Amino acid sequence: MKLKVYNTAIIGGGASGILAGIYLNDKKSIILEKNEILGKKILITGGGRCNLTNNSTLNEYTKSYYNSGNYYRSAFNLFFNKDIIKLLEDNGCKTKVEDDNRVFPVTDSSKTVLDTLIKILDKSNTQYKLNCNVTSITKEENLFIIQYNSKKIKAKNVILATGGNSYPETGSTGDGKNFAVSLGHSKTKNMGGLSPIKIEEQWIKKLQGITLDVSLEFKANKKSIVKDSGSIIFTHKGLSGFVIMNNSMTIEKHLRKNQEVKVNMDLVPEYNYETLDKILQEDFKQHSNQGLKRYLHKYLPKNMVVIFLEQLNINPETILNQVTKKERVKIRDSLKRITLTVTDVLENESRVTNSGIKRKEIDPNSFESKVVPNLYIIGELIEGCGICGGYNLQKAFSTGVLAATTIREAK
Ligand SMILES: Cc1cc2nc3c(=O)[nH]c(=O)nc-3n(C[C@H](O)[C@H](O)[C@H](O)COP(=O)(O)OP(=O)(O)OC[C@H]3O[C@@H](n4cnc5c(N)ncnc54)[C@H](O)[C@@H]3O)c2cc1C
Repeated sequence: MKLKVYNTAIIGGGASGILAGIYLNDKKSIILEKNEILGKKILITGGGRCNLTNNSTLNEYTKSYYNSGNYYRSAFNLFFNKDIIKLLEDNGCKTKVEDDNRVFPVTDSSKTVLDTLIKILDKSNTQYKLNCNVTSITKEENLFIIQYNSKKIKAKNVILATGGNSYPETGSTGDGKNFAVSLGHSKTKNMGGLSPIKIEEQWIKKLQGITLDVSLEFKANKKSIVKDSGSIIFTHKGLSGFVIMNNSMTIEKHLRKNQEVKVNMDLVPEYNYETLDKILQEDFKQHSNQGLKRYLHKYLPKNMVVIFLEQLNINPETILNQVTKKERVKIRDSLKRITLTVTDVLENESRVTNSGIKRKEIDPNSFESKVVPNLYIIGELIEGCGICGGYNLQKAFSTGVLAATTIREAK
């Protein structure tokens, strides 16, 4: 039987694949998506609110992908944060900018972003087919043969937009890497990025769900490896939040060397030791009849105070004038420094995959493979991730648009 020949087959209909489809705008091109819907992962981004991009400058962007920011310059020059915002807004999805330049839809719902992208794709000429699990891609002469379910099609170009392998329940199960390797790309070791961490101290579990702005310093074998500050979230296993996830790859590197990793957290970074000491002494005198538990709400979230005091072996019901000097000093020191032991980086909870197809095997001016002509690799499937804040979706959008534009202009 003669197989149908497409101009381009986009494998995967997530963030990068949808944008590639929109910008290809070609009725002889098709997106093959294994799920029953497009963009399943988009729905869970940003805690269900979709932090779709970051409104910072190109210069800031180049620093936000660990050591690979410059690699995406051509993609960002073609399609940047303002472009995805405009595309969405022109089609009815209004956006807003929050702390740290993070951009969200005004509805605070990822579904609005996904529905809008699908609406735009529907208006374009590119077709898409759901429930198509691609199982192999081979190349014969100048055409790719793509097998999905029990069918086969041919295509002049293939765009691999299958994502990484984090949150595999959304469809990203690492298939793209296997396809690329079978076509001649090098194998890479799996490495997650942006992961929560596991903490040894069990009392931390009682704080699950509490969010706090802290300064922290990670040490490996007693040597400082990371100093940072930001919002953390206590979890059932340890710690999460942007500041934890953004540094998880560094922590992992040291854990893999079997080093002892500790984190010192300053729970009240807005006060230095001396100021805090003075304020505590004065407040304890001035409000001597106030309960300690209530007083400490000044520094810590309400539901954290009792657990914090129990940990210090101080009765939370104590009145300020009953607190001994030794206890006051203990409170001061612990507000300024809580030391915890990091036992693991929770790779299976990582938000993105850091490993992927090697950047040096892909041309950053087109995202065409340097190993296999007419094969394009976009989105999270490209080695290296961005920090939290909308940078990973922007990478997916921008690389998708550049690959599609390259193909369209080559016609
Ligand atoms: C919990 C969570 C929260 C996140 N929050 C944010 C955020 O707020 N902001 C941000 O910038 N980034 C965020 N990210 C990261 C971001 O979602 C990804 O980097 C981005 O979706 C990658 O886009 P992609 O198109 O490369 O891959 P994906 O979005 O993963 O899409 C890949 C698609 O390919 C399909 N596919 C895979 N294999 C096959 C196959 N064999 N056949 C057919 N189809 C296939 C999959 O089903 C999937 O639909 C978050 C990630 C997670 C897990």
